[in-house]
Amino acid sequence: MAANINIYQGDQIGGCITVISTDKTKIVIDFGENLPGTKKETNIEFDWAHEKVDAVFFTHYHGDHIGRFMEIPDDVDLYMGEVTFKVMLNIRKAIHDDAAVKKLSERRAKGSITFVERAVPIQINNDITVTGYSVDHSAYDAFMYLVEADGTNILHTGDFRDHGHRGQTFKNGKKHNTMLDVIKYYVHKGGRPVDILITEGTMMGERANEKKFSEKDLLAWAKEYFKEHRYIFLKVSSTNVDTIASFYQAAKANGMNMYANSYILKQFRVYRTAGQKYGTRIYDFRKAKKIPFLSDSKEADNKEAYRILDDMRKNGFVAIVSEYDHYERVIDELSDVKPEMIYSMWEGYLDPEKAAYNKELADFCKKYHAFQKHTSGHAYPEFIAKVITEVNPKQLIWPIHTEYAKGFKNLNISDELKGKVKK
Ligand SMILES: [Zn+2]
Repeated sequence: MAANINIYQGDQIGGCITVISTDKTKIVIDFGENLPGTKKETNIEFDWAHEKVDAVFFTHYHGDHIGRFMEIPDDVDLYMGEVTFKVMLNIRKAIHDDAAVKKLSERRAKGSITFVERAVPIQINNDITVTGYSVDHSAYDAFMYLVEADGTNILHTGDFRDHGHRGQTFKNGKKHNTMLDVIKYYVHKGGRPVDILITEGTMMGERANEKKFSEKDLLAWAKEYFKEHRYIFLKVSSTNVDTIASFYQAAKANGMNMYANSYILKQFRVYRTAGQKYGTRIYDFRKAKKIPFLSDSKEADNKEAYRILDDMRKNGFVAIVSEYDHYERVIDELSDVKPEMIYSMWEGYLDPEKAAYNKELADFCKKYHAFQKHTSGHAYPEFIAKVITEVNPKQLIWPIHTEYAKGFKNLNISDELKGKVKK
């Protein structure tokens, strides 16, 4: 017997669903929304009634991996990282998605959401073993999964990279690549081979030419830039913890404060607690402050807000903003200090030629002359090649989360490995 693998929508970025089964057991990895601008805009149907899935494992909290969890029947157990759960719960609370908040809380209380711990195997039906290993990605608490089923070892990378704050570590004065080390010492522990590698390939194809820029590069750039430019508005995803940490640390080094709304400050507490657990201080965010909002209503008392705005003028700031009126009010109020706006997201959202174009966001960035400084959340092809070589799968390399699976044939890997790329 060998495990059976079915992958839906692997040929697009986002909304990819992996189904792995034996005669007795069936698990799913990721169940998220199609991203705006993908080939198929509508989510595929998944026949939960007939598929009889035992468990769904989520790699991380991005909507294109976890966004459809509400559709999963109550008798199917969910597995995810603790930070993934908390960050997602905060998001749903912030957007007043009461049904999702209720569902997540109930499931957690009933034990049908289990937190995945690093390198701790999870048994499903005493049949399939799933082990999560943390990977560097723009989402905190992202996992790759080793699935051992019917004598077949399958490694599913989820989304990954190695140019974030957790991609490299220093041990005994030597730089180590975290993910390659994890593959070498944990996945291959005791000579355990990987038969099938399922790997993301977001940056294959046209994105391969994007300028390589790591979180460390971003931190170094911002540290230097903030010496002369002390009034910064920042447009960034609230869950891109590495990039926010780069800007936070650069601001701190220059005696400037970071400001954000109360929802983001709540996420900061989740990241800080998790960071402490993993022994890193980069995600501290302890000194981040609440961004002041001004009210135009007659009864409003804006005294405190004006006091904070004066602080911002005095000490300099990095303030996280969005394309909404109440932020524009703050930005306009501070126009006297000639603030700048940094756009730290993928440029595709601002490009009218791209299907992912977001007009409100693009207009906002244009109005305030935003300029881009951004680190990709995904591995560049060179690193994908290194991962494939390190994993050295015996049977098959299955590209997912990519619009350019063909590109895997051009990677800097051996001919033997090239021959294993799925046709
Ligand atoms: Zn992701």
